[in-house]
Parts: sequence; structure tokens; C-alpha cells
Amino acid sequence: MKKNRLEIIKGDITNLNVDAIVNAANSSLLGGGGVDGAIHKAAGPELMEECEKLNGCSMGDAKITGGHSLKAKYIIHTVGPVWHGGYKDEPEVLASCYQSSLKLAKDKKIKTVAFPGISTGVYGFPKDLAAIIAVNETRRFLLKSSYPEKVIFVAYDDDSFEVYRKILKQ
Ligand code: ADP
Repeated sequence: MKKNRLEIIKGDITNLNVDAIVNAANSSLLGGGGVDGAIHKAAGPELMEECEKLNGCSMGDAKITGGHSLKAKYIIHTVGPVWHGGYKDEPEVLASCYQSSLKLAKDKKIKTVAFPGISTGVYGFPKDLAAIIAVNETRRFLLKSSYPEKVIFVAYDDDSFEVYRKILKQ
């Protein structure tokens, strides 16, 4: 796999000029706080109208909508696990979020997709373990698929950036 298919940036995912951004949604898909709230705010009210028709989304699964007022053409909404100490299959569910999201990107022939740290905010998943899962699952997927061409991990703060940087070096 070409090395430059993975990238890390620090910043706000809602500003990115990519084909798709991933949302850390909740199972209702009807908005929430954190990155979900920021995405709905930036995408505008039509996003909620589209989400209302989707009938929610199961944990570990993903659904796709338009990007509406965002620069991104699509939003992939995935529902991460709430961290309960690691005894409730949280790592497997998080891995499934990345696989499901990447599969949707592949099916739509999306070239560039940006992920926030799914479950690493209010849902409490440890950031280092979450980043290992994010990078491993993405590498595994890209080895067998030419789409997406590029995956960007978006760190919202310096600590998260450093966590991704260390893992990507390995
Ligand atoms: P979850 O409920 O899945 O934990 P959160 O939205 O609370 O989702 O947090 C997920 C991650 O997204 C956290 O690491 C948080 O720092 C980060 N985040 C919050 N807002 C943004 C944003 N605008 N752009 C990128 N990342 C963000």
C-alpha cells in the first residue's frame, strides 16, 4: 500500500475539503453534541430532514447522506460503542464502525474520506486504543480496495494528534 494513503491533520472536520466526512453519530441519527452537533450546525437543517428518513442506525453500522452546506459531498454517519471498560466488545464494535464506513465510501467510489476519533469524546473510548483500531482497520481495508484513495484522521487536539502520529509511524 502506498504510504500517502493515510494522513493525520489537526483541526475541525466540518471545514475540510474532502469528498466525505464521517460523523460520530448516535443511534437515532437525530443529532447530538460534540462532532455530531458541529456537523449538523455546519451542514444546515436539510441534513436533519434527510436523517429523519433513515430510521436510525445500529451500533457498529454506518449510513450515508449528502453533505448539504458542507464542502464535503457526503456524510457517513456511524454509531460507535460507549466504553464500558472493554468487556462489552467495544473494540470489535469500533472496528466495525471503520469497516462499515469505509465500505460505504468504497461503494460510492469516494476518493477522500476524513474520520474524527469515533467514540473518543462523550462515549469515553480510550484515545490510544481507538487510534490503533482506526489505523489498523483502515490499513486492512485499503490493502484490498483502491477506494477510498485517501483516508484522513482528524485530531481535534494536540494529544490526539500525537497519539495518531506515533501509531502511524509504526
Ligand atoms: P462520541 O460520542 O462518539 O464519543 P464526540 O463527538 O463526543 O463523539 O467525540 C468524538 C471525537 O471528536 C472526540 O475526540 C472529539 O474531540 C472530536 N471532535 C469534536 N468536535 C470535533 C470537530 N469539530 N472536528 C473534529 N473532531 C471533533
